[in-house]
Amino acid sequence: MYLADYHLHSTCSPDGHYTMTRMAEAAVERGLNEICFTDHLDTVEWGTYAPRTTFNWAEAVRQAEEAREKWGDRLTIRLGAELGEAALAFDRAEKLLSDAPALDFVIGSVHMMGPRHGHEDLYYIPKADEPFYHDVIDDYLDDVMALSRWGKFQVLGHLTLPVRYIWDNAGLKMDFSAHMDAVEAIFREIIPRGIGIECNTNRGAIPLPDESILRLYRRLGGEIITVGSDAHSPAYVGCRAAQTQELLRQCGFRYLTTFTKGKPEFRPL
Ligand SMILES: [Zn+2]
Ligand SMILES: [Zn+2]
Repeated sequence: MYLADYHLHSTCSPDGHYTMTRMAEAAVERGLNEICFTDHLDTVEWGTYAPRTTFNWAEAVRQAEEAREKWGDRLTIRLGAELGEAALAFDRAEKLLSDAPALDFVIGSVHMMGPRHGHEDLYYIPKADEPFYHDVIDDYLDDVMALSRWGKFQVLGHLTLPVRYIWDNAGLKMDFSAHMDAVEAIFREIIPRGIGIECNTNRGAIPLPDESILRLYRRLGGEIITVGSDAHSPAYVGCRAAQTQELLRQCGFRYLTTFTKGKPEFRPL
């Protein structure tokens, strides 16, 4: 089985503490064939939400080269980005991308509640009741739809992210089963345009998105799908990669997707 982890963070992310070389070493230890670094490229500054239009690409390129020098004979190392909160300011997102070197892969991610909740970071979602969370999910999906219509990325990142933080912060197990119409509308927007989704292995918890949504995407003709651990530390590199690829196969997927300079390559599952 060809194993690829397409969602990894390094010290080039504000919440990353390990270099690309250290993360690549862990990928070699786990027997991965390919990895892609996707550090946070956000339209706002962490913590302050101040507008942001710059990224230290020189450092990212330097680290990727160093990692390839050390481990490039053992695995393929790609350089991408996790573009966050593009829907807050598409002009800033376009500036961030236009200043980047030729990237292999871009994840489009929403980490915030939508406009009706002041774009508060989902990480800080308050303890509340289910109706509140359903409203947050609707609001979040509005931003995901706006992001999808814009479409300047290869895959939608960790769709259903609110369920992770509702669980972490309130101990409440929720899913998107009451929001499948909105999810389907998003898939009908991205699939014809050749935009895919990721299956985020979510530190070994229920994947984001879960099996029911993976099956819906496949049923609607979705073919492009990456698997990513979202690891910020070596311990999670390649987390549940093989099991997740097996899950994709069971959901009817025939291929795992990898990317070179934005162009998809299909690896039989
Ligand atoms: Zn993310
Ligand atoms: Zn991430």
